[in-house]
Amino acid sequence: MSQQGYVATPPYSQSQPGMGLSSPYYGHYGDPSHGTSAPGIMKPSGPLGATVPGGLLPPGSLPPGPPQTGPNGAHSPQRFPGPPPVSNMAPSYTPGQPPPQSSHPSPGSTWSATQLGSQFSSMQINSYGVAMTPSSQGPSGPPSAASFQGPPRAPQPSILQPGSQTLPPPPTTLNGPGANPMSSPIHGQDGLPGPTPLNAQYKPPPPPGQTLGTGYSPQQANYGPQMAGAQLSYPGGFPGGPAQMAGPPPQHQKKLDPDSIPSPIQVIENDRATRGGQVYTTNTRGQVPPLVTTDCVIQDQGNASPRYIRCTTYCFPCSSDTAKQAQIPLAAVIKPFAAVPSNETPLYLVNHGESGPVRCNRCKAYMCPFMQFIEGGRRYQCGFCNCVNDVPPFYFQHLDHIGRRLDQYEKPELSLGSYEYVATLDYCRKNKPPNPPAFIFMIDVSYSNIKNGLVKLICEELKTVLEKLPKEEQEETSAVRVGFITYNKVLHFFNVKSNLAQAQMMVVTDVSEVFVPLLDGFLVNYQESQSVIHNLLDQIPEMFADSNENETVFAPVIQAGMEALKAAECPGKLFVFHSSLPTAEAPGKLKNRDDKKLINTDKEKILFQPQTNVYESLAKDCVANSCSVTLFLFPSQYVDVASLGLIPLLTGGTLYKYNNFQMHLDSHQFLNDLRNDIEKKIGFDAIMRVRTSTGFRATDFFGGIFMNNTTDVEMAAIDCDKAITVEFKHDDKLSEDSGALIQCAVLYTTIGGQRRLRIHNLGLNCSSQLTDLYKSCETDSLINFFAKSAFKAVLNQPLKVIREILVNQTAHMLACYRKNCASPSAASQLILPDSMKVLPVYMNCLLKNCVLLSRPEISTDERTYQRQLVMTMGVADSQLFFYPQLLPIHTLDVKSTVLPPAVRCSESRLSEEGIFLLANGLNIFLWLGVSSPPELIQGIFNVPSFAHINTDMTLLPEVGSPHSEQLRMIMSIIQEKKPYTMKLVIVKQREQREMTFRQFLVEDKGLYGGSSYVDFLCCVHKEICQLLN
Ligand SMILES: [Zn+2]
Repeated sequence: MSQQGYVATPPYSQSQPGMGLSSPYYGHYGDPSHGTSAPGIMKPSGPLGATVPGGLLPPGSLPPGPPQTGPNGAHSPQRFPGPPPVSNMAPSYTPGQPPPQSSHPSPGSTWSATQLGSQFSSMQINSYGVAMTPSSQGPSGPPSAASFQGPPRAPQPSILQPGSQTLPPPPTTLNGPGANPMSSPIHGQDGLPGPTPLNAQYKPPPPPGQTLGTGYSPQQANYGPQMAGAQLSYPGGFPGGPAQMAGPPPQHQKKLDPDSIPSPIQVIENDRATRGGQVYTTNTRGQVPPLVTTDCVIQDQGNASPRYIRCTTYCFPCSSDTAKQAQIPLAAVIKPFAAVPSNETPLYLVNHGESGPVRCNRCKAYMCPFMQFIEGGRRYQCGFCNCVNDVPPFYFQHLDHIGRRLDQYEKPELSLGSYEYVATLDYCRKNKPPNPPAFIFMIDVSYSNIKNGLVKLICEELKTVLEKLPKEEQEETSAVRVGFITYNKVLHFFNVKSNLAQAQMMVVTDVSEVFVPLLDGFLVNYQESQSVIHNLLDQIPEMFADSNENETVFAPVIQAGMEALKAAECPGKLFVFHSSLPTAEAPGKLKNRDDKKLINTDKEKILFQPQTNVYESLAKDCVANSCSVTLFLFPSQYVDVASLGLIPLLTGGTLYKYNNFQMHLDSHQFLNDLRNDIEKKIGFDAIMRVRTSTGFRATDFFGGIFMNNTTDVEMAAIDCDKAITVEFKHDDKLSEDSGALIQCAVLYTTIGGQRRLRIHNLGLNCSSQLTDLYKSCETDSLINFFAKSAFKAVLNQPLKVIREILVNQTAHMLACYRKNCASPSAASQLILPDSMKVLPVYMNCLLKNCVLLSRPEISTDERTYQRQLVMTMGVADSQLFFYPQLLPIHTLDVKSTVLPPAVRCSESRLSEEGIFLLANGLNIFLWLGVSSPPELIQGIFNVPSFAHINTDMTLLPEVGSPHSEQLRMIMSIIQEKKPYTMKLVIVKQREQREMTFRQFLVEDKGLYGGSSYVDFLCCVHKEICQLLN
């Protein structure tokens, strides 16, 4: 895997202020070795100018041809109604026509900060005024809901200016008086003399009664002296110890009003108000899609749906110089198998029979809307490498008067962003059609798992879930074969052939080089062998009931599963249920090497690395044999997730972890995860290639992937929840006319054993104007990229360096905007581009995540686990993970069926009369204020008062009351479509468990370090000012 990029080079230093810094991120431009950039056939200018298809038009151009009339005269607004054909027959593709292009994203927006300043004074219609500058032109027209008070999504920058919403003035010199904006509160608290400029202009803190429960000191009062010494002014990163829950009352500091700084909730709500519930069509190149938090219907009209691909920006800078100047990562987050809702069209399947897909001779790009047909339809020019190719005779079609093929809207590959091809034998291993995949269940039957009932639970559940093995949509039964292995420090294979009276066990005691003792009867059709299998599953808990074996092996188990798949010549997935550190004598034997002394040293990275290289080479073998591993871990102590977890990470599997598993509390979560995982949409033996048009290329890949070279992303399997983040870099100039085109092709085997190609195409704009770049950014994708690149870097770099780079790059991106895009204004103003208003708060959440925070309070396994989860997350999952959803429950209207509006993740938003739900995709908390309304307590828990609530539950009781029904419905909506089942934790205000909960109030100062949002914003502001000076 490529290690270049993120932190391969040191960050720019404080001693190099200014905007002309050479960034470590962009050191690979102009690499002449890249094939697609080699000079070749030049683009003929004639045909392209006149006949470029809609997807290729730069903003502002007119759509080609009459917008309402397709080549076939069809007038249906729905272009591809009905389900796609999934058989191998030619697709019954419904012709349609291109609809009129929707308005381009605010082409004529005024970007005047001065004007905004004056607008600002008249727009205090909601409490988030500063962040939400009004807009005359939202990207999708005016907001539709009258009930929404705020202005629509504003394409203008946010501006924080002196006056009532002032940030402290920035330093003019590093050491000058008043230079450190952080110094005033610190000095104030410590009683030290010090300049406190503009304090008089601060808003007082919110009234205590409105924001805080009794006994709490406001988070923002907890400035620690440590900040004064923070070299990079990343405040609060290394506190002396955990913050006190009920400290002394805050001193009367003047404080920036939290309501005056950009609010993620407001940004999310604004996007929902302007774009929610609408149809989003992908016909315009470079269009910024609705946020991941906005529900809408997506219609593919030539570019891949944002469910499949999201980008950090939808407008790339034309030159590498501009890219270096802005330091905005150019990246795409690709989720090739993303689930689409039932009201959106699934992918069409194209079958060219033995001819196979039509591809460019030179760059091998697949036929797509970016190919330009010329010479009467006899040839086409590749949109990626510009090569002119002959059209194969079977594929010939005449062109219409504006140069479009007459069948353009009858062929998915000519008019859609995403579609599938049936792959020919050329695309199969050994030129043979693949066998359907197999699932192998591998159960750790060591003493503790038998004792706590886990083995029995798994065996019972398998009887049910095996009935739901995934299958092709048109098939009646699943083609997936199944097999069973149990193990402790030896392995037991089971013959479950259908003609046996009962299963036969074969024991393999030599774990140094595992072989598969049986082929016939190990992998079977579940339906055929059902009675033998059920009999086996009944017997397994009995078989090992008297076992005292505590030791386990792990690598030989994976090896055995992989060898079994290899022998059966099929791809597959191992479901491994494992509990302990594998200490038995065998390859991959591990010792407890969890060493807290390494934390906060340059050697901390060792904790994230595998203990031996056995696991990486085993994972590599698994990928080579298309064996994906999903690992269910039930640790009661350190199990070395960094080593064990490498196998699922590199093989495209999933890691689930249930700490201190307790049958009565945790079965629900585990069983749900198991059911969902087995039923998931999944592709096997996958190889992904990302092609780009000339001038830029994919340089780095992050995800649950394996790479043997720099271009082919290999995955033993990939499911609907896994995303790969791809970074791009320039190697030449990009043109505003032709834009930046991306084609992601995934070759894979379906659950039924068909070899297919899944193609996603996306066209981005290019501009030489920095303003266009900033206007088209998507902060949620930026955070996904930053998180994955930083979490990859923890294997090689000290965490301190990584945190510094993140802070620096944030400041740099914003300073570049300030210098080049915003109108001149006082240096004390913090001006944020509209698209990045919440970048600081999200970035701070990333910095405070336990992976990047060097603190001994969080277990190494937990940090490693979270690191691994984030590496495969898509944009929606990472958004929720870093900025949890906090919903007030006590204000619910029991008749309503919609989610209540979320509030910001800060303790100041809680109230002791309130009940709140907080979810981040892994955990879900129900927080109960000490004065929660008794009728709500009764309705939810069926107990008379707060004191009677038993917090030792992970499922809410079914009380039958409206409150109970509604709360459980809300929780199921939140859980829906999330890859992990969230474990419910009931938290009573002022009880010990609240410490855990408070870690998720991410706008506040972290319990184990990490600054508050307000402090971080001040810190970033100061950095920006230093850069501008
Ligand atoms: Zn090409």
